[in-house]
Amino acid sequence: MAKIFCVANQKGGVGKTTTTVNLAAGLAKVGQRVLVVDLDPQGNATMGSGIDKRQLELSVYDVLLESCSVAEAKQHSEKAGYDVLGANRELAGAEVELVDLERRERRLKTALAAAKDDYDFVLIDCPPSLSMLTLNGLCCAHGVVVPMQCEYFALEGLSDLVNTIKQVHANLNPDLQIIGLLRVMFDPRITLQNQVSDQLKSHFGDKVFDSVIPRNVRLAEAPSYGLPGVVFDPSSKGAHAFVDFAREMVRRVNTM
Ligand code: ADP
Ligand code: MG
Repeated sequence: MAKIFCVANQKGGVGKTTTTVNLAAGLAKVGQRVLVVDLDPQGNATMGSGIDKRQLELSVYDVLLESCSVAEAKQHSEKAGYDVLGANRELAGAEVELVDLERRERRLKTALAAAKDDYDFVLIDCPPSLSMLTLNGLCCAHGVVVPMQCEYFALEGLSDLVNTIKQVHANLNPDLQIIGLLRVMFDPRITLQNQVSDQLKSHFGDKVFDSVIPRNVRLAEAPSYGLPGVVFDPSSKGAHAFVDFAREMVRRVNTM
């Protein structure tokens, strides 16, 4: 049965999409069956997995409006090694259209329940907001992976996310927990980053993943080739870090 994780942080540009597609590719590499759900109307996870968002016949939008199933809307990315439930600009409209519908925050949960035996991992790339789309993601997840840069304001933004997760946990999804904080775009030469990293570990203890993702230009270049960095340049430092992280996730899941 699939374990479902949201990759969330309400800040933009912190590495959510990079984490989603590279963790997915890393998990596929170590033999896991993976589905990536793109919940961001920007469709970056879709494009970054080698699926053209402009050519989607069915997308996560259709799934949220219950006009098709996950199995019907998903596409397989041969190169990336996993399935993708894609998104494009159409998804921005779902926010408004869902408002008047019943079970509006549970649409994705219901849809994924029908696909749970097809995958070991479902990774949901959330938009940079705490919106109805993100809420749909949090409602169906077993855990949240929070990518963060070790910068001064990182901890401040974290408290809003932690509060949202607590509320969803209390009201909508008792399974939900922060599975871990992932330090991304890390540069060990920068003193402040080391200090924030130490602070994170003292505040959050073993909720901080052991794996650390370095700042690595190959990870940033990969999306323009429609590939996760793990596939684009498997020998790069960034790719190695994400494959290590995938192994760490498999270990965590086995102890959940
Ligand atoms: P988000 O999905 O949170 O908005 P992205 O994953 O799109 O963030 O990352 C924001 C930018 O930072 C992108 O241009 C991406 O290529 C770049 N980036 C992300 N992680 C790394 C990394 N480890 N090293 C270098 N660049 C990175
Ligand atoms: Mg993104």
